[in-house]
Amino acid sequence: MNKQQLKQEQPIAYRTLSHALKHDRLAHAYLFHGPTGTPKGAGADLLAQSIVCANRDEDGFACGECVDCRRIKEHQMTDFIYLDGTSTSIKKENILKLQHEFVKTGLEHTGKKIYMINQAENATADALNSLLKFLEEPNGQMTAILLCDQPERLLPTIISRCQLIPFHPLNSRICFELCKEELGELDAYLLSGMIHSPQEMKEVSESEAYQHARTLFFSFIEQSCTSLHQAHASLLKEGFDNKRIDGKQCMRYFLEMLMTFYRDMIKGNAIIQHELYQSCLSKQKSIHRNPQHMLEILLTTRDKLWKSVNLNLLCDQMVYRMKNDIR
Ligand SMILES: [Zn+2]
Repeated sequence: MNKQQLKQEQPIAYRTLSHALKHDRLAHAYLFHGPTGTPKGAGADLLAQSIVCANRDEDGFACGECVDCRRIKEHQMTDFIYLDGTSTSIKKENILKLQHEFVKTGLEHTGKKIYMINQAENATADALNSLLKFLEEPNGQMTAILLCDQPERLLPTIISRCQLIPFHPLNSRICFELCKEELGELDAYLLSGMIHSPQEMKEVSESEAYQHARTLFFSFIEQSCTSLHQAHASLLKEGFDNKRIDGKQCMRYFLEMLMTFYRDMIKGNAIIQHELYQSCLSKQKSIHRNPQHMLEILLTTRDKLWKSVNLNLLCDQMVYRMKNDIR
C-alpha cells in the first residue's frame, strides 16, 4: 500500500499518520484496529517502512522501493520483529523473547526498532501482561504496532497506551468504482460483494482459488437453469477439494458470488451490464420461487464452512436443501 491508496481508502488513518510522520512526532505504540478485511496489515507495513526509509517524501511517507522498504514488507529486517496471532495464540515466551532481542542495541544502520503484532487479541492473558510492561517503558527508538480486529478483547490498559488508528470497511459501491477499470466490470463487481479493500480485491482476483470459484459459479448458475441435478453433479465433479487450490477459500468465494447473485434477483436488477451475468439473472428469475430462501441456505453454508472437514459433504447438503426450492 502506498500513501495515495491509504489516503483514498482510509482518510482518517491517513490524516493521523501523515501528521505524525511529517512532524516527526511518532507515538511509541500504535493500535491499528478495524474489522476483518480492512487493510490494517498493509497500512501497518507502510508506517513501518516510513519509519526506516531513507527516501521519504515531503510528507514523511516511505518510498516503498528501497532495500529497507522491501525488507520491511517481507518481514526480513533484523530490527523488525513480527508476531502473528492468526493461527496460533501469542504466548508470554514470545513477548519475553521479543523484549530480550530489543534490549540489545540496534543492529541495523537505521538504529530504529519496530515490532508488529498481528491479531494481538489472540495473545494469552500472560502475554498481554508482559506486553503491557513493555509498553510502559518506552524507548525513543522503538515503535510498537499492534493490529487487531476486536479491540474489546485487549486489556484496556494496553489500549490506553497506544495511539489508535481506526480502519473502516469501504462500502462495496466505492470498492467497485475504484477497481472496475483495472479488474474489469465483472470481477470488480463480484469481488466488491465480498471484500472491502481494493488492494485485497486485486490480490484475490489473481488467485487460483478465486478464478476456479468464478468458473464454478458461472457453470452452476447456467446449468441450474435447466437442471439442478446436473449443476450439482458437475459441482461435485469439479469440486472444491482440489490439490492445487485452497478449497475452503474457493468455496467461500463461490458462496459469496451466489449470494451477490441472489441479492440481485431479490432487488430485480444488477448494476453491471455483463451479458452472461444478466442473462443468467433473467433465466433464473423464471425458475426460483424464493431467492430469499436460497440466500438463507447460502448463509448457513458459509457459517459452517470454517468448521467443516468435508467440503463435498457440505456442498451436498447445500444443494439438497436448494432442490426443495426449485420448481
Ligand atoms: Zn524506502
